[in-house]
Amino acid sequence: MSERLVFLASRNAKKLEEMERILAPLVPGVRVVGLDDLAGLGIAGYDEPVEDEPTFAGNALLKARAGFAATGLVSVADDSGLCVDALNGMPGVLSARWGGPPRSDERNNALLLAQLADVPDERRGAHFACAVAVVHGAGELVVEGRMEGRIIRETRGTGGFGYDVLFEAPEHPGRTSAELSREEKDAISHRGRALRELAPQLAALLA
Ligand code: IMP
Repeated sequence: MSERLVFLASRNAKKLEEMERILAPLVPGVRVVGLDDLAGLGIAGYDEPVEDEPTFAGNALLKARAGFAATGLVSVADDSGLCVDALNGMPGVLSARWGGPPRSDERNNALLLAQLADVPDERRGAHFACAVAVVHGAGELVVEGRMEGRIIRETRGTGGFGYDVLFEAPEHPGRTSAELSREEKDAISHRGRALRELAPQLAALLA
């Protein structure tokens, strides 16, 4: 099986590893390379665009388009975040930088707990959302995935990242997504769902 190269417009080694792990069983031979791998492929780097779209899909598309324009490779990009019911969907596309600069998961989580301090248990619903965009020579597409759950009242767990320490999914009651194994989270996560939906189309594209 020859190598099937996909460019993920990201410098985040964990994201590259996660995408390859989820796609590998569905897209045999897939190899996910990122911005830091371009030099090794003899491709010039480029400036990443500012993520200023109001939707996950919009941001994912603008990153994948920039990736394809610069590399000519089948280019994938994702954008994700937490949408809290009691906050009308906030922090949404602002999730990563909600607590202000410099980016800090701890400050983001402290702000979320403070904002929800007076919100009763039955109104603490939330979901993670992820859009994944693919841009290639013959067109572009976007898929979206969600992970439903609720925001608990104090942080718990050491795995995962971001808001995982405050998020409980109904599939695993009593455990936050920071207390799930990688496999358990992949099986229900917004990114896992989006990537598994994308896989057959990506496989066809790379065939
Ligand atoms: P981006 O998609 O890398 O731009 O950032 C998304 C932000 O949303 C992260 O910095 C986290 O704050 C949050 N987020 C997205 N997915 C997850 C997740 O699976 N667990 C916890 N936080 C997440």
